[in-house]
Amino acid sequence: MIRTRFAPSPTGYMHIGNLRTALYEYFIAKHGGGKFILRIEDTDRERYVEGAVDIIYKTLEMAGMKHDEGPDIGGDYGPYIQSERKNDYMKYALELVEKGEAYYCFCTKERLEGLRLEGETGVKYDRHCLSLSKEEIEKNLKNGIPFVIRQKIRDGSTTFHDEVYGDVTVNNEDMEDQILIKSDGLPTYNFANVIDDHLMNITHVIRGNEYLSSTPKYNPLYEAFGWDIPTYIHVAPVMKDQHTKLSKRNGDASFQDLVAKGYLPKAIVNYITLLGWSPSENREIFSIDELIEIFDVKGISKSPAIFDPEKLKWMNGEYIKAQNFDEFYEMAEPVLKEAVKTEGIDLKMAAQMVKTRISTVYDIPALIDFIDELPEYDKSLYNHKKMKTNTENSLDFLKLIIPVLEKAEDWDNDSLYALMVNTAKENNLKNGQILWPVRTALSGKPTTPCGATELCVLLGKEESLRRLKEGIKLLES
Ligand code: GLU
Repeated sequence: MIRTRFAPSPTGYMHIGNLRTALYEYFIAKHGGGKFILRIEDTDRERYVEGAVDIIYKTLEMAGMKHDEGPDIGGDYGPYIQSERKNDYMKYALELVEKGEAYYCFCTKERLEGLRLEGETGVKYDRHCLSLSKEEIEKNLKNGIPFVIRQKIRDGSTTFHDEVYGDVTVNNEDMEDQILIKSDGLPTYNFANVIDDHLMNITHVIRGNEYLSSTPKYNPLYEAFGWDIPTYIHVAPVMKDQHTKLSKRNGDASFQDLVAKGYLPKAIVNYITLLGWSPSENREIFSIDELIEIFDVKGISKSPAIFDPEKLKWMNGEYIKAQNFDEFYEMAEPVLKEAVKTEGIDLKMAAQMVKTRISTVYDIPALIDFIDELPEYDKSLYNHKKMKTNTENSLDFLKLIIPVLEKAEDWDNDSLYALMVNTAKENNLKNGQILWPVRTALSGKPTTPCGATELCVLLGKEESLRRLKEGIKLLES
């Protein structure tokens, strides 16, 4: 059975690249009917940020991913947490010591620093403690001398296969006797990672290619234990531009930031999946279920992908267009309430008008800013070639329509449309010759999210007529 894991370090920020890795892990597991595991890699206590696990949880939940197993946390299952598994790592390190594949190292910090000072860069540990006798080791342990446990790297070379990058071979001479357990008793990052991947029966390791250079260190461990090596799938980074990676340090948005900016989790998931992975069909909009269905490792690219905010905006707009109205309104209502202070405006109607014209709900205020107050506008807005209107004839057209509208009994879209079109017909005018000046006078803007009659309904009879008369004043000035 396919088993993948998402193994974030709790640094307090859900990086877009991290989330993309989680998605690929999730899709690969689910595509094969397998399991998706969540493991918090918190052995580096210096990088630990309070509350970070909650952010990870929340992000996965919002993105639509739920991990499949973990320790019981009262009715639900939590993630596996490395710092709570300290004893396991020590046990396995001692097993390697027993097998002669690892050894205690009591070298002091000063000695190690001295070694580095004498050597060139890339100098390796000199295996000083490899030759300690059993008695010396026992004496040191009894006396409580701090130690680390190092793996004794075997001679030869190490080759590992990556599904994206192919075979990578490293000469073992270039590898140091890596530390497995640090002097604080905690495992090193790489050791814990291998032990856990094995204990959790992980079949596919998917992660950022910044780990590609650490991977050769993993195989000697698998070999020392005699364990099966998982399939490696390293993915290229998500970039801000040609040269810079997306990162918190550069102030780039996290998943949570994007959600706060009005992006729908589904749109973000869809967009970031396509950063570095291409489906075989020529389409761009996919639901998470569709992605599970079609995801194929073969589509993962070796080269970095650039995060394009404009493309995400477009995609979010497509998701908003397809959203059912009630769901959209729930999301848009707070923004509409903030943007429209005039009493009695039908906010649902305003929401209908803008739904197909925005990338995020925060585009709404600029589209409807004319509702509360008619903006000051230049009369040249009445010039419209196609509609055959200009500043002179628009004055006549407004004068024609105002009395008709004053008499109007039904102030709804259809009735108003019929009145305006009939007036145009009776006077041998094009429809636009009535509709365009009305629209201009009501909004004071060159573009509006709706037509003249809808503007009338939205603003109401009294305000509409007031604005039409203002239009006359402007055109007469
Ligand atoms: N803990 C690592 C990170 O947060 C992931 C390493 C891995 O997936 O093996 O980047």
